[in-house]
Amino acid sequence: MDLLSVIVPCYNEEENIADFYNELLKNEAYFKDKGIDFEILYIDDGSKDKTVEEVKKLRTGDERVHLLSFSRNFGKEAAIYAGLKKSKGAYVVLMDADLQDPPSLLPQMYSYIEQGYDSVATRRVSRKGEPKIRSFFARLFYRLMNKISRTEIVDGARDYRLMTRQVVDAILEMTEYNRFTKGIFGWVGYETKWLEYENIERNKGETKWSFWKLFLYSIEGITAFSTVPLAIASVMGVLFCLVAFLLIVVTIVRKLLFGDPTSGWPSLVCIISLVGGVQLFCLGIVGQYLSKTYMEVKRRPVYLIKEDI
Ligand code: UDP
Ligand code: MG
Repeated sequence: MDLLSVIVPCYNEEENIADFYNELLKNEAYFKDKGIDFEILYIDDGSKDKTVEEVKKLRTGDERVHLLSFSRNFGKEAAIYAGLKKSKGAYVVLMDADLQDPPSLLPQMYSYIEQGYDSVATRRVSRKGEPKIRSFFARLFYRLMNKISRTEIVDGARDYRLMTRQVVDAILEMTEYNRFTKGIFGWVGYETKWLEYENIERNKGETKWSFWKLFLYSIEGITAFSTVPLAIASVMGVLFCLVAFLLIVVTIVRKLLFGDPTSGWPSLVCIISLVGGVQLFCLGIVGQYLSKTYMEVKRRPVYLIKEDI
């Protein structure tokens, strides 16, 4: 028997644990036929509700259910990493606990693996049911990101992905602390089949991502997979040097031709504040990369385990 590891990051998902399990097991017969058994890894990302108890309850009735519990909330990226590390299957699939990644798609996904693809990824073609402003910024982010990064990051891509062991091992070789999974998938490459589906609203509970959390996450993505912002800082520096040089020439020529009238204070203030702003902006960009480097250099663990059942 081969093994299919199902990795489910959970953060305060008590209402969804059992629903997800039942929905997933609807595929049991299909995979049994193919000689594949499930291994279901619930990764509890420091939930404050009854998520852990719910998983343990499932575990008493089904040995295929496993629980990995973190000491606190480390974020979905950490949960994915922990799950991939723990998984033993020849095939691995990442799924959200809220049923936004429909388990009914699994047989179709697996059929592409049978055809020889290394990885089957999904993207949602609509953002129905999401706040307009969030969709707008999400689109903007993907457009910007693909301009400034050589790693392809697909708009609307979900983390719902079925992979072979080879791909999982490749991902695990990336031991970085700042983990931006959407970029990591693109970076490792391999033959990937994309499936599309309409956005599905979450089963129960609420989204764990606030706008602010998403904003910070987007900065993570940019700094992790592009150094273009650093180049922008240099380019701006050069541009401002050129402008400054022109201004010097103009000022000298004007002095020689018209003497030295003491007007020009307003323009001086404008120039000083503009240049000051640009300098701080560029310093901020450098600071972003420095802070990411700092976290990387510390080599702190990506997550800490409290319980492993
Ligand atoms: N999640 C997690 N840690 C977090 C936030 C979310 O493990 O800090 C899990 C969450 O339980 C869910 C998945 O990541 O299974 C996706 O989260 P959510 O549905 O809140 O995000 P959305 O679908 O709204 O993007
Ligand atoms: Mg969700």
